[in-house]
Amino acid sequence: MIIVLKENPNKEQLEFFLAWLEDKGFQIHQSIGESHMILGLVGDTATLDIDLITALDIVDNVKRVQEPYKKANRKFHPEDTVIDLGCTKIGGGNLTIMAGPCSVESEEQIIAVAKAVKESGATILRGGAFKPRTSPYSFQGKGKEGIDLLLEAKRETGLPIVTEIMELSQLDLFDEIDVIQVGARNMQNFNLLKELGKTDKPIMIKRGMSATFEELLMSAEYVMSQGNEKVILCERGIRTFETFTRNTLDLSAIPVLKELSHLPVIIDPSHATGKARLVAPMALAAVAGGTDGLIIEVHNDPPRALCDGSQSLRPEAFDELMKKISPLHKLMSEMK
Ligand code: PEP
Ligand code: MN
Repeated sequence: MIIVLKENPNKEQLEFFLAWLEDKGFQIHQSIGESHMILGLVGDTATLDIDLITALDIVDNVKRVQEPYKKANRKFHPEDTVIDLGCTKIGGGNLTIMAGPCSVESEEQIIAVAKAVKESGATILRGGAFKPRTSPYSFQGKGKEGIDLLLEAKRETGLPIVTEIMELSQLDLFDEIDVIQVGARNMQNFNLLKELGKTDKPIMIKRGMSATFEELLMSAEYVMSQGNEKVILCERGIRTFETFTRNTLDLSAIPVLKELSHLPVIIDPSHATGKARLVAPMALAAVAGGTDGLIIEVHNDPPRALCDGSQSLRPEAFDELMKKISPLHKLMSEMK
C-alpha cells in the first residue's frame, strides 16, 4: 500500500501515525520527494481500512500496490535510486561503464586491461574470480587469488571493482569489493540473495536466462527485504529459439524495468550476443535506449582468453566504442 502525505504534514500527527502502523506490524518505507512524502507499507495490508486512512488530516491519497515486489517498485520510490561508490555514481542520469575481462587470469593481464579501460573512460573494472562454467572441465576461475589480483588492479588504477559471488562461503573475500555480482545462474538462489541483503554492498543481479521481469524484480526484492536497497538490475540476454547469437538481448528491459522500478539498469551486450563484432552496435542501442550503464568484456588477447574470448573486445576496439558512447549519451541527456 502507498500512502501519499499532504505537503508539510503535522509532525506530531505523522509520528503518531507511523507508530500506529509499526504497532500493527508493517514495515514502512519512507520516500521523501520534492513536494510530497510517500509511505510504502509492506505487510498484510488487507486488514487496513483505506477509507479510515484517507480521512486522516495528513493523508493526501492511498493506493493499493498490486505488484508482488514492493521495495523495488517505482510506486514506492518515484525518484531513481542512485548508488554512490565514492568515485562514481550508478543511476539517476549517470552512465556507468563496467569493463574488463570475463575472468581474471594473471597479474599482467588484469593490470594491463584495467589501465587500458580506465584510459578509455570505464568507471568500474569487471573481472570474474569465481566462474560459473557450463562444463566442470573448463577453467573455473582463480578464486581468492583472482580477488587479490582485482584488488591490486584497484590500487593501481583507482577503479572500483565488480565481481561475481557464487556462494555464501565466499562472502568474507568480498570485503573490499565495491559491487557484488549475482550471475544469471544464481538469480533465484534465494538464500544467497537474502544474505546479501544483510550486507551494505551494492548488489548487481543479472537476469536469469528464462526469467521474466517480474521474477528479476522479485530477486531484487529478496535483497531489499533484508535492508539492503543498493540493488542494480542487469539485462544480459535471454534464451530464445535464435542460435546465431549466444542469447537474445532484450532491450525492452530498459524502458520496462525503469517504468516498474527505481533501480538502475545495466546492459551486458557481451553475454547477450556472444560475438565481439555485435557488442558495439548493441551497446550503442542500449545507450540510445536510456540504459544507466553497460558491462562489457575486454581482453588484451581474446584468442587466448581462458573464458569468453569470442565476445571480448580488444582494448583498441573498446576505446573506439567509448568515443561513440560519450557523445551519444550527451545527446540523449540533452533530448530528455
Ligand atoms: C559474467 O558476467 O561473467 C557472467 C558469467 O555472466 P552471466 O551470469 O550473465 O552469464
Ligand atoms: Mn563472461
